[in-house]
Amino acid sequence: MKQKTIKKAVHYTGIGLHSGSQIKVEFSPAKENTGIVFSLHGEHGNVFIKPDAAMVSDTMLATTLECDEYSIATVEHLLATIRSLDVDNITITVHGKEIPIMDGSAAPLAYLLREAGIQKQAKNKKVYRLKKAFRFELDGKYIEAKPNDGLVIDYTIDFAHPCIGKQQYLYEASPAAFEKDIAKARTFGFLEQVEHLRSNGLALGGSLETAIVLDKFAVLNAEGLRYKDEFVRHKILDFLGDIAVSAYPIHAKFTVFASGHHINNLFMRALLENADEYLEVVELNDERINVNAKKQQKNFAGNLASI
Ligand SMILES: [Zn+2]
Repeated sequence: MKQKTIKKAVHYTGIGLHSGSQIKVEFSPAKENTGIVFSLHGEHGNVFIKPDAAMVSDTMLATTLECDEYSIATVEHLLATIRSLDVDNITITVHGKEIPIMDGSAAPLAYLLREAGIQKQAKNKKVYRLKKAFRFELDGKYIEAKPNDGLVIDYTIDFAHPCIGKQQYLYEASPAAFEKDIAKARTFGFLEQVEHLRSNGLALGGSLETAIVLDKFAVLNAEGLRYKDEFVRHKILDFLGDIAVSAYPIHAKFTVFASGHHINNLFMRALLENADEYLEVVELNDERINVNAKKQQKNFAGNLASI
């Protein structure tokens, strides 16, 4: 499998969740082995920032990256979309301090990247493959990763709310599955929480157009839900973004219970701090694909023999 970038530069403008103001974001193609790079403007000129787990400074409403005096908030849906559409190399220029919230989902971002077009490059794609199981647990919430070819996420949430309750979803990552099953799932919040945040000058851009809002008993959005289990699907979207703060995409099977931005980041920090022990960089070249195909073929033949 080859590395990919976008075919042409594209941009969009939207409202920031925190500030409530209009922010412009531009995507540009980038050379092989560049990775995902944010270009940010600040008092001392322009800087380029590569998202890293250790830069995550705030996870209360969304995930914020901070590097010296530069910061960029609400990066998780954007990073999830870039990684999930298999874009390896891209520059994101942000004219503000946060990524616009749009409709609270990743669907507009996926649409925009498709508009730009996704282009193969000459060099092989690199991924992190997990060498052995790694588990992180806090207050009964956990993330467990096991070695696996490709990315699989088995996510369970359990909310004491009549519209949410216990939801579980198994996501086997591919661009098509992302666009169909995950990208459209919106962020959600509770009315009391939203009122509290607003009175503290936060979530000024939050509304029924940018999130699912629930009171004690019901979903307040007139249009209802996009999927009956939209909540757990959105948690998977957040998780995809929160694990994208690494040099390469991680291939593993994750089993996640009741996690959120904070625990996702603690998990990533712990994993990347022990990268030598748990991760290896693998180039996805054609030879490896052949080996997998052979293995699959062998398993298939084995199944036939055992009938
Ligand atoms: Zn989210």
